[in-house]
Amino acid sequence: MRSHRIAVIPGDGIGQEVIEAGKKVLSALAEKSGDLCFEFVDFDWSSQRYLEKGEYIPAGGLDKLSRFDAIYFGAVGSQDVPDHISLWELRLAICQGFDQYANVRPARVLPGVNSRLKGAESIDWIIVRENSEGEYSGNGGRVHQGFPDEVGTEVSVFTKKGVERIHRFAFQLAQSRPRKQLTLVTKSNAQRYGMVLWDEVFFEVAKDYPDVSIDRELVDAVTTRMVLKPETMDVIVATNLHADILSDLAAALSGSLGIAPTANLNPARTFPSMFEPIHGSAFDIAGKGIANPVGSFWTAVMMLEHLGESTAAERLMAAIERLTASGLQTKDLGGTATTRDVTQAICADIERQ
Ligand code: NAD
Ligand code: MN
Repeated sequence: MRSHRIAVIPGDGIGQEVIEAGKKVLSALAEKSGDLCFEFVDFDWSSQRYLEKGEYIPAGGLDKLSRFDAIYFGAVGSQDVPDHISLWELRLAICQGFDQYANVRPARVLPGVNSRLKGAESIDWIIVRENSEGEYSGNGGRVHQGFPDEVGTEVSVFTKKGVERIHRFAFQLAQSRPRKQLTLVTKSNAQRYGMVLWDEVFFEVAKDYPDVSIDRELVDAVTTRMVLKPETMDVIVATNLHADILSDLAAALSGSLGIAPTANLNPARTFPSMFEPIHGSAFDIAGKGIANPVGSFWTAVMMLEHLGESTAAERLMAAIERLTASGLQTKDLGGTATTRDVTQAICADIERQ
């Protein structure tokens, strides 16, 4: 029996609903396989905890978390806590504390899902987001706060080591794919320091991967290519901010934000990696039981792959595709099914296989 210890942080809003659903599906998968089991340990690190106790993560919390095989995360964000506090105190504290520098975001139109984009069937992208520095380095400040001449700075920090490791990661990922194509996205015409460093290091690293075909785009231009020529792209590497934005676009083009998964990887495995749907806590639908849990199921597939459970990962992905193809869909995809309907259907399908 192979056993994996999973730290579960449902967080806020629909994060709680979709992670609950994801755990059910993982348990069904384990039961069916017979030789696989998950030990889930729940952590109540959420905005509610922050409002009650003044902290998201208790003292020694990260240390405790560091002993798990993986982290399954929902979403964080509350109308009662400023977003920059919830994000930095919980999600970024884990990503940066555990050096999860590679954020991997696949985008693909699943069977039965209607995209509003013409030609969307050809979307099969993986966006690699630098996850440890850049625009989200936490560098900057405010002076003369509250006065008319107030100044706020937000300083992006790009280190050569940080840039090189994300490029190497992206090249290796591209190399493992049939098309072996990598697109570099920066804004090195207007931003002439960190972005030019990104470009230079990219072309230096490229020499080690001659079988990967490369091209480059400016971030504004690449949005038009994603919409007008989706079939021309494969793996995309971009900075923390740029890839954050591009991956929401990619999710919407492939049907819904509710479907898209992501992995925050520590490739050296010195600390656990964290897996989460890319969406947030969705104030508008939280508590209604109508959140699309497919993003958290697909997230579980990425977690299984990371845990070396490739057979279980393939089985779950196949079950997700049968589910979306069946037309049982939540409201964001134009259907009327609830989170529970969708979860029950996929669990039943897994049991039948
Ligand atoms: P959001 O992703 O929560 O919601 C955007 C829209 O997409 C909403 O209309 C929502 O109903 C819809 N949506 C998202 N996920 C869905 C799903 N699974 N099923 C059906 N519909 C879905 O983004 P937002 O509204 O910008 O942010 C809300 C809060 O979440 C904020 O506090 C924000 O900071 C936080 N947030 C957290 C994360 C994270 O934890 N990784 C990511 C994004 C936003
Ligand atoms: Mn985002």
